[in-house]
This record gives sequence, structure tokens and C-alpha cells, in this order.
Amino acid sequence: MDQHIFFADSDDVPFALSRPVCKKVLLLNSYNYSLQWTASITKGVEDVLLASDDPVKFFVEFMDTKNHVSPEYYQNLAERYRIKYGKVRFDAIVTSDDNAVNFVLDHRKDIFGDAPVIFCGVNNYNLSDRPDFTNMSGILEAPDVAGSLNAALLLQPNLRTIYCVIDETTSGKSLRADAERIVNLFKDRVRLVWLQGLSMGELEYTLAELPEDSAVLLMTFTRDKLGQTFSFNEALSRMNRVCQQPIYSLFGFYLGNGIVGGMLTSGKYQGSAAGKMALQVLNGTRADDIPLVTGSTNRYMFDWKELDRFKMDISDLPVNSIIINKPLSFYQQNALGVWSIAGIILFLLSIIVLLLVNIRARKNAEKNLEELNIYQETLIEQRTEELVQRSKDLEMANYELKKLDELKTAVLNTVSHDLRTPLTAVLGFCKIIDRDFKRFFLPLCEETEELKAKGARIRDNLTIIETEGERLTRLINNFLDLSKIESGRISWNDVAVDPARLIDQAIPVLEGYFVQPGVTLTVDIGDNLPKVVVDPDRLFQVLSNLVGNAAKFTREGKVILTAGTTEGGWLMVKISDTGIGIAADEVEYIFDNFYQVQRDNSVYEVARGSGMGLAISQRIIHHYGGQITAKSTFGKGSSFTFTLPSAG
Ligand code: ADP
Repeated sequence: MDQHIFFADSDDVPFALSRPVCKKVLLLNSYNYSLQWTASITKGVEDVLLASDDPVKFFVEFMDTKNHVSPEYYQNLAERYRIKYGKVRFDAIVTSDDNAVNFVLDHRKDIFGDAPVIFCGVNNYNLSDRPDFTNMSGILEAPDVAGSLNAALLLQPNLRTIYCVIDETTSGKSLRADAERIVNLFKDRVRLVWLQGLSMGELEYTLAELPEDSAVLLMTFTRDKLGQTFSFNEALSRMNRVCQQPIYSLFGFYLGNGIVGGMLTSGKYQGSAAGKMALQVLNGTRADDIPLVTGSTNRYMFDWKELDRFKMDISDLPVNSIIINKPLSFYQQNALGVWSIAGIILFLLSIIVLLLVNIRARKNAEKNLEELNIYQETLIEQRTEELVQRSKDLEMANYELKKLDELKTAVLNTVSHDLRTPLTAVLGFCKIIDRDFKRFFLPLCEETEELKAKGARIRDNLTIIETEGERLTRLINNFLDLSKIESGRISWNDVAVDPARLIDQAIPVLEGYFVQPGVTLTVDIGDNLPKVVVDPDRLFQVLSNLVGNAAKFTREGKVILTAGTTEGGWLMVKISDTGIGIAADEVEYIFDNFYQVQRDNSVYEVARGSGMGLAISQRIIHHYGGQITAKSTFGKGSSFTFTLPSAG
């Protein structure tokens, strides 16, 4: 609000700043600012002018005619205002109470010119009858006696008598004249007693003795019959000191100082109504065109303290009543605290909700975990049962395998024994038959060619029986050896053996394997071979297998048996040949049980074996902690090497 106000009291003290181009308004108060009524009017006018969109230069004067009434004083005021405002052209002059408006009208020509006049707080209803009542309008102060009586009857349903306090001043008399017309309307509902023309003492005495079903209506009491004057509040406070009954009034300036309330003429509302009229004038409306206002600025107003003191029920008050001094509600007094606590509660509630959500989530998680645990336990139980079952199955299978093994061994033993015995007999008799046939019968076959051929065939057949019988014997022996080694039932007759000596002794037997004319055996025995602790028969068996195989699968060239010492001091024996060799993809299988390399028929015929020789040899060498390996180049030859730890 860019408002600029000049606010001057009777001592010409400016209160605000101005701006160059703006309307000028003078507020001329009849009384002094210290009078509540006048202060309220001034405030009412000022508030309205401050709220105006257009800038207003506002001048305020207080004539103080409550305290000064002499003609000289008025003369002095006129002189003073003439000096101050004689050359000022006001756009509107607002007056409060009768004296000011009369003063302006009396000095329009010499001081105030023809400025429009807006008045308020005027009791003189005949003001408009003045011949110079032109270019002006305003608010007549019209106390609402009926309104205040109504309020008293509403608040005190048992009210019988109302004592009307009024003085003998001009305004008191005119007030009573107006009131007389109205109180007649109430004569059936309540008795009215006029307390007029009393001294303050008499008034106090009377008020102190009032009956319970009575009330006081304070109209005005500024001067008593003894000529003593009292300010509004002074008179009211003296009355209040003695009076035990509620006091109502007609004027707003008593409110807050000891009256219950009533339909009150309010200085503030009078002032703001006058201010609004002044604004209309500033905006171009002629003052004459604004209708006079009577009474509409009055309000039902009450003091909560007094209502409370007399235990009056607020709900009995007329609608739209204004109540002052009403204690603030708990909320109004502690709004910040209430909101803070509400905020804290909300915050705590949010945390509780969050915690509840969290607890719920945790419980769900726990439940899920529990279910998972149960599921896992069930699963583990199931798996354990399955494993136990499998273990039982395995035990059973193992047991059956052992049984089978035992059975196999028993069968092998029995069969081998039962086979070997007749086989030995067959071979023995076969040799005897061959010898006898050759000695006694073959010479007889020389006579004819036919007999000669038949004799030769019989000898061939006997040789076949012998060869196959021997092969069958080897086969059975191999079977038995392998079975005994695998079942751990073989007996190892270990002694410290000198390898060189053992090989020397074996050479004649080993040479026996070489039936092919173009193949020779070369033996190369190194010096100082380490002794080994072995069963000599088993070591011989290994040598026999390896040299036998070399002889079998070599058609020309030579077989070399080399015996030496490894870097670690072990015995190393190598049998290499220039034979048919073994395909690279088969070398790794030749130590397996019963494994025989596929050969063409010619080789097969020569080398029919059992597929057990190398398997037995490997087990013997491994039994003594040694190693046996084979290297071969298909079509060129093979070499087999075994090592044995020295006897130490
Ligand atoms: P077999 O009694 O059939 O000879 P082995 O276990 O002694 O059984 O030998 C397994 C296979 O390895 C033989 O069938 C043979 O084909 C092959 N083999 C072994 N030694 C030699 C070698 N020196 N030269 C070629 N092949 C060999």
C-alpha cells in the first residue's frame, strides 16, 4: 500500500510522509485523541483511507472541546486553523461529533472554503435543517436503546427492572428524549427506572442496593448534579465498584471497561463509514448525493469477561454478536505446540507403520525360511534314505560280487585242477603213442605209398594234439596265475636274486622260443646289476612272456635282451625286437586282461595266445613296486622295459 498520510495533532506534529500529487483530506475531531471514542473514529477513518488505491494526504486535528468550551478558545482555534489551512484546498473534510461539524459549517467561508463535508458521531438529528447544509453527508450517532434492552432481556431471562443511568448534559437530555419513545415498547416486559439528576454519591448509593433481578443501562454520565465532571471510564469504574448487577450500555467506548455490552455505537465503525463516504467523494461523487446514515453502524458487542463474571450463556447472545476479551482456545494458544505434537505423532506413527511393515516382512521371511528348512530337512531325509538304500544295495552287490568271485575262484581251481590232470595224462599218452608209433608202426608203413601217407598224417595229428595240449596247459596256468594274483591268494617266495645269474640260467629256455630260422636272441647283461628281492619263478615268468612274445612276432632280424641299472640304482630290463610292431592306438591296451591285438591270419596262426601274458607280467612287476612300459612302431618293432627296486 503506497499510502502517504499527514497525521497531525493539535500541536501540529506531522505523522507521515506525502507524495506530490494526491488528494487532501482533513479529519477534524471535536474531542481529544485520549478519548477512546475519538481515537476509534480516527482509526476507522485512517484505515479506510490507507486502503485506498489512490494516494491521500491525510490531516488530523483534535479540537479538544470536552476540556475547553469558552468562546475565546473557539476564536483561537479558528485563528489557528485559518493560518494552517486557509490556503489549503481540501478535497474532503471529515468531522467527528457535533462540535466539529458545527465549527466547520460556521467557518466554511473564511477557512475551509466549499470543501465537501462528511460527518460522523453527530447527535443532532436536525443538522440537515441548517440552511448551509450543502455539499455534505454523514452518519448520525443513533444509539440503539431498543437493541441494548433486547440484549439484556436475552441474557437475563428473569430481568424485572432496568435502571437507566443518564446525566443532565445536553446530550444526556436529547438521549433521554429519544429513548423515551422506545422504552414504552418494553413497558410490558420490564420496568424502567431513570436514574437522572443524581450526584455521583447518590448514584453509587442507589447502584449498590439494586435487587438481583435488575440490570443497569448506562447511557451517559459525564457530569453529575453537583457539576462534577467525569471521564467515561472514570464514571464507569466508580459505578462498577458498587454495582453488583450487570451494566449494559449504548456506546462502544465503554466496552472492555466494565460493561457487559449491548447494541453499541462504535467509534471505529462510525469512522470507517465516514472514511468510505470520504472515498466516494474523492472519487467524484457529490456529498449531497450520498444518503445520510443512521444507526447502521451499531453492532451487538459484548465483553467475555463480564459475561463470564455473571455466568451468562454465550449461546443466548444475538446472532453476529462481537465478543471481545474472549480467551483463546487451547488450540489458538498452543497452535505451534499442537502442530508440533501432531507432527511428532505423525512421524512416530509413520515409524510405527514402517516398523509394522518391517516386522511383517521379517515374519514372512522367517516363515519362508522355516518352510525352506522343513523342505530341505525333508529333502535331506529323502536323500539320506536313498543313500542308505543305495549303500545297502551296494553292500548287497558287493556281497554278491564277493560270492561270485569266490565262486569263480572255486570254479577256476576246480576246473583247472580237473582239466590239468586229464590234460597231463592226454599229453603223456600222446607222447608215448607218438614214440611207439614211430618205433613200431611207422616202419611197417613203408610198404605202400598209401600206408606211408597215412602214417605221416597220424604223426602230424599226434603233433597237433601235443601242441594244442601244451597251449591249453599254458592257458590254464595263466588263468590260475591271474586269478590268484587278483584274489591275493598267490604265494610269493621272495628271495634276493642276482638278475645276471637268473638271466644266464634262463637263456637256454628263452632261446627255445626262437623257432624261426632268421631270428636270433642277443643278450647284453651289464656289470654290477643290483640285486632284487623277488620270487625268481615270477621274474622268470616275466622274462619268458616278454621274450616269448618278441620271438612270436618277429620273423626276421633280432631280439635283444639288455639288463642294466637305472640312474636311481634300480634294475632295468629291456627286450626289444625288429618284429611286426603294434599299432599306436592299441599300445595302451595291451596290458589289459585278455587283450589281443588283431592280426592277419598268418600271424594269428603263429601267435595264438591268451591275451593274459602281459597282464600277468604287469601285475608281477607292480607287486614289487616296479614299472613296465611298452613302445612300438607298427611294422618296425617293439620294446618292453621293466624296472624293479634294488634289494638295497
Ligand atoms: P598273448 O598270450 O596273446 O601273446 P600277451 O598278453 O602276451 O598275450 O600279449 C598281448 C598282445 O600284445 C598280443 O596279442 C600281441 O598281439 C601283442 N604283443 C605282445 N608282444 C608283442 C611284440 N613283441 N610284438 C608285437 N606284438 C606284441
